Amino acid sequence: MAELAFFSGTMDCGKSTLALQMHHNHEARGRDGVLFTRNDRAGAARLSSRLGLSVDAHEVADTTDFWAEVVARRTRGRAVDYLICDEAQFYTAEQVDQLAAVVDELDVDVFAFGITTDFRTRLFPGSARLVELADRVEVLQVRALCWCGARATHNARTVGGVMVVEGEQVVVGDVEADADTVGYEVLCRRHHRHRLTAVSARAASPSPQTLGLLADDAPAARA
Ligand SMILES: [Zn+2]
Repeated sequence: MAELAFFSGTMDCGKSTLALQMHHNHEARGRDGVLFTRNDRAGAARLSSRLGLSVDAHEVADTTDFWAEVVARRTRGRAVDYLICDEAQFYTAEQVDQLAAVVDELDVDVFAFGITTDFRTRLFPGSARLVELADRVEVLQVRALCWCGARATHNARTVGGVMVVEGEQVVVGDVEADADTVGYEVLCRRHHRHRLTAVSARAASPSPQTLGLLADDAPAARA
């Protein structure tokens, strides 16, 4: 029985690494898979992990039809046993419906990987539909950490290290951004609510030993 599984988490929690590991494990057992991604940090049509691994993948566009993709391959005589779908938060709700149909009607396992919520703590459309439809949702066990050491559960968008809360839902960036470009930082909920990034916290308290204590009472925290 094929399944639709959604592996979710914050940025920087090892999703793409697990996607590549999953692909390797199934391939090693003689199964044939197809890899998809969207807006990967390595550029179009690559599925890359922060640990340095990277493989070719098919770039998903708004026009991609997963049902048609699988049927076309099988029509050409190619086996399709499973799909690896990375950056699934960027897929449309309709595309997630197609993935569910691929599982149920074509008996293809679909392993989707994605960030649950955006920088405003709102569900991405693709992730929302996956939570609604998946046979199982797994929150990844590799825990990303906030600068304070607490478990990071939220994604902050930053410009020059300072958290911003306005803007389009999708702006491609990474956790290693330059000073003036859009970047992302994972934070605990408390520091996401207080808009206190690592840069803001350092500015509020130059002494690392008292960083945790002072940062929460700093004026910046109430901005
Ligand atoms: Zn924190």
